[in-house]
Amino acid sequence: MPRGIAASGGRDGMLTGMDDDRRAQIEQGLLRVRARIAQACESCGRDPQSVRLVVVTKTFPASDVAILAGLGCVDVAENRDQEARAKAAELARLTDGVTASDRLRWHMIGQLQRNKARSVAAWADIVESVDRPEIADALSAAATAQGRLLQILIQVCLDPTPMPGRGGVPASQARELARHCRGLPGLQLAGVMGVAPYPGDPDLAFAALARLREEIAGIDPGITQMSAGMSGDLEQAIGNGATQVRVGGAVLGNRPLLK
Ligand SMILES: *Cc1c(COP(=O)(O)O)cnc(C)c1O
Repeated sequence: MPRGIAASGGRDGMLTGMDDDRRAQIEQGLLRVRARIAQACESCGRDPQSVRLVVVTKTFPASDVAILAGLGCVDVAENRDQEARAKAAELARLTDGVTASDRLRWHMIGQLQRNKARSVAAWADIVESVDRPEIADALSAAATAQGRLLQILIQVCLDPTPMPGRGGVPASQARELARHCRGLPGLQLAGVMGVAPYPGDPDLAFAALARLREEIAGIDPGITQMSAGMSGDLEQAIGNGATQVRVGGAVLGNRPLLK
C-alpha cells in the first residue's frame, strides 16, 4: 500500500466505510483514463510517460483529493481560488499537515482576477490561466513576496469568437504576452494551455495550439508544455502533442451541479 492517508485510514476514521467505495470508484476511473491515454499514445507513436494526467477536482471534496494522493496522483487542478484554498487547508487538516499535500502539485485552471493573485500564489504550484500581462505582473509580485517560484502557462483562446468567462489571450497576442512573461521574477513560463471550442472541432483547435507553442518556443526554449484535452477530447489533444491533459468527470464522475 502506498503511504498516505487514504491507505492509513485518517485520524478520525473519516476515510473508512463509504470512503472505501469511493476509493474503488476513483481507482477505476483512473485506470480507465490511463488506459485511454496509453491507447491514444500508441495510436500516434508517443511514449505514455510524455503525457501528464492532471485530475480536475473542482466541486469535489478534499477527501477525494486525499484519495487521489493515496493512489499516487500528483497533479490536481482547481478553477476557483476560494474553493481551492479551503480544500488545500482541509487536506492539510485531514493529513495532519503531512504527506499527501506535500506530494501534490496544485494547478490553477480558472479565470484569474488581479486581486486574487496573492492568494493563488500561496496555494498553486502551476497557474495555467495566465492570459493578460497584468495577471502575470500580479502573480510575479505575489510569488516574489512569498519567496515562491510559480510555473505559468499562457492560456490561449481557441474559440472562433471570444466568449465571456472562457478566458484566454487571442492567438494573435500570445507571442507578445510570452515575451512579457519571460523573465518576470518568481515566474517560470513553461508553455501554453487551451480549451477546445464548443461547439467546434477540437482536432483543428489543438493543432493550432501546437503550432503556437512551436512559435513561442522560438522566443524561449523553456516553453515545452501544452496543456490541452479534457474528458471528452483527450485523444485529440494527445494526437496533437499535448503534454498534459486535464480530466475531471472521466476520473471522478459527474460533477455536482452548481447553483
Ligand atoms: C472543468 C475543467 C476541465 C475538466 O473537464 P472534464 O470535462 O470534467 O474533464 C478541464 N479544463 C478546464 C479549464 C476546466 O475548467
